[in-house]
Amino acid sequence: MRTQIAAANWKMNLTLEQGKALVDDILSSPLTLDHHHLAVFAVPFPYLITIKEQLAGKENVFVAAQNCYSKKSGAYTGEVSAEMLRSIEIEYVVLGHSERREYFNESNAMLAEKVDLCFEYGLKAIFCCGEALEIREAGTQNSFVEEQIKESLFHLTPEQMTNFIIAYEPIWAIGTGKTATSAQAQEIQQHIRSVIAAKYGDTVAHTVTILYGGSVKASNAKEIFGQPDVDGGLVGGASLVAAEFTTIINSLK
Ligand code: PEP
Repeated sequence: MRTQIAAANWKMNLTLEQGKALVDDILSSPLTLDHHHLAVFAVPFPYLITIKEQLAGKENVFVAAQNCYSKKSGAYTGEVSAEMLRSIEIEYVVLGHSERREYFNESNAMLAEKVDLCFEYGLKAIFCCGEALEIREAGTQNSFVEEQIKESLFHLTPEQMTNFIIAYEPIWAIGTGKTATSAQAQEIQQHIRSVIAAKYGDTVAHTVTILYGGSVKASNAKEIFGQPDVDGGLVGGASLVAAEFTTIINSLK
C-alpha cells in the first residue's frame, strides 16, 4: 500500500511552548500508526530542532520545514536553504504552499529549482498544488493543476518521481471551512495520478502519495481519506487542536 500521511501545517502559529505542549498531547493520545502511515509536523523554522528532539524515538513521526529557498547559498538575507535543513537532519519540507505562491510570488519555475535542491540534499518534498475559486468556477481546475505539476516536476527522473509526495489543495478550501467534497477530491487527484502515469507509467504513478488539503477536520477526514486516490491530508487549522489532529491521524487508511 502507498504511504499515507497526515501532515500538520502550523503556518505562522503557536509559540514554542504551545507547540511543544500540542505535540505532547498528540503523542500521548492513542495513535494507530501502521507501518505505511506517517504523521508529519510542518513547524516554523525556529522550532525545527526542538520539535525534532521531542519526536526522537517515535516511529513514523517526523518534523518538516514549511519552505526552503530556491538558491543553494549566498546573499539571500532571511532565507533558509535545503542544505541548512539537511545539516540539522530535517527530512521533509513543504514546497509551494498556496500562501507562498500568493504572498511570496513563488512560480512553478522557482518551485522546480526548490524541488531539485531538495533532491540534491536528500530532503523529501511535500509539493503543493491547487486552483483558486475562479478557476474552479470556470471548470478548468484539471488543466491548471496539470500545468503546475508539469512545470515544476516533469523534469524529474522516474526514480525521483517514485514515492514523491504531492498535496492537492484547492485554495478556496484552505482555511475557509469549505471542504471539497470527497468526490471532488477524488476526481482531481485521480486526474493528477493519470497525468503522472502518462509521463512516467502506471507503476511510478501508483507509488506517488497524493494528499488532500483544505479544511480537513476530525469529522470529515475518514470520508476524504477513504477515496482511492487520496493518501491522507495536509492540515492547517485542525492540526492546532490535539484531539482534532489525533483523530485525523487515526483516519488514515
Ligand atoms: C493548509 O494550510 O495547507 C490547509 C489546508 O489549511 P486548512 O486545513 O486550515 O484549510
